[in-house]
Amino acid sequence: LGVARASRAQAVVDLGAIRENVRRLRAVTGVDVMAVVKADGYGHGLLPAARAAVRGGASWLGVAFVEEALALRMAGIDVPILCLLAAPGERFAEAIAADVDLAVSAEWALSEVCRAATTAGRTARIHLEVDTGLSRGGATPAEWPDLLAATAQARAAGLVEVVGIWSHLVHGDNPEHADTTVQVERFDEALAVAERFGIRPAVRHLANSGGALLAPRTRYDLVRPGIAVYGLSPAPALVSAGELGLRPAMHLRAQVALVKELPAGEGISYGHRYRTLRPTRVALIPLGYADGIPRQATNVAPVWFPAVGRRTISGTVCMDQFVVDVGPDAPVAAGDDVVIFGPGDDGEPTADEWASAVGTISYEIVSRIGARVPRVYR
Ligand code: PLP
Repeated sequence: LGVARASRAQAVVDLGAIRENVRRLRAVTGVDVMAVVKADGYGHGLLPAARAAVRGGASWLGVAFVEEALALRMAGIDVPILCLLAAPGERFAEAIAADVDLAVSAEWALSEVCRAATTAGRTARIHLEVDTGLSRGGATPAEWPDLLAATAQARAAGLVEVVGIWSHLVHGDNPEHADTTVQVERFDEALAVAERFGIRPAVRHLANSGGALLAPRTRYDLVRPGIAVYGLSPAPALVSAGELGLRPAMHLRAQVALVKELPAGEGISYGHRYRTLRPTRVALIPLGYADGIPRQATNVAPVWFPAVGRRTISGTVCMDQFVVDVGPDAPVAAGDDVVIFGPGDDGEPTADEWASAVGTISYEIVSRIGARVPRVYR
């Protein structure tokens, strides 16, 4: 890997991959890209991921919370930033002062944003969210006209500028699902209703990675990819990252801490949920569930050793470590590298394979790699 070997574990992040993935998203969609960098850039690091995405051509950044947006501004990032979520009491005035766009999906949020705009002494840039079927954020079609009426008033008072109208897809992992058609129809209808209130936003946006790459009619003026920015497939059951022209950006590696010989029939780790079938060698890997290795990886998830290839985790994943039965005579020693997941170039598992082994999605695998694991950028 060409990185310092003398460390317990590292998440090596390939910023060139993030840059190229965004280039690819721009080329495939032909529209502007808002790179979603919430949750610490899906675990890849907020600022480095944001900078790499902007270098790759992202003209917008998307975050969940105001604090994330302010951190980007404090680091000197000056592209438009949309804060996708809002909770009562949010630091809206600071966001407005820092030129951060705010999502508004309910009248309480509009009122708070208007008060904050008065405090900040400037017009707030907002993106109205309509719920087209996810039943999560956004005004329902029934609430939409009232939200638009209140927004039109706030706009007339100079408190808000409606920069965008947006919604979010239900089936990012299968964007050609029939529900997507319903969502597109509801979104078009919501835009038509907004027009009747004289509200014509500069950017209409609906697509996440799955929509952006696999459902062209969801692209509108701007797409909001997250997982594809980091090189992972939004729809791994349908298409791989490689087939989409994406490159996984995170490589999680560790250094073997200890190797020992065990006789046949020996139980391994808490609860003895694995037992050796023959005399063998086991390697201790210093990563555990406190580092984001799911405990469900017990006895199922693969790791890769340069000297012997793939092996499966043997026994219960502990807080700080897990054990792998590497086999009799396996030439594995303390200090050797072990790769938990990566792009797959050398035969190591991918984050998608980890997700499928433990019954989750790659988003959870990468975004939960803990703060205790240093990020190394290359
Ligand atoms: N837009 C919104 C509102 C989101 O919540 C997310 C992620 O959860 C995204 C876009 C990016 O989605 P994805 O990572 O599937 O591309």
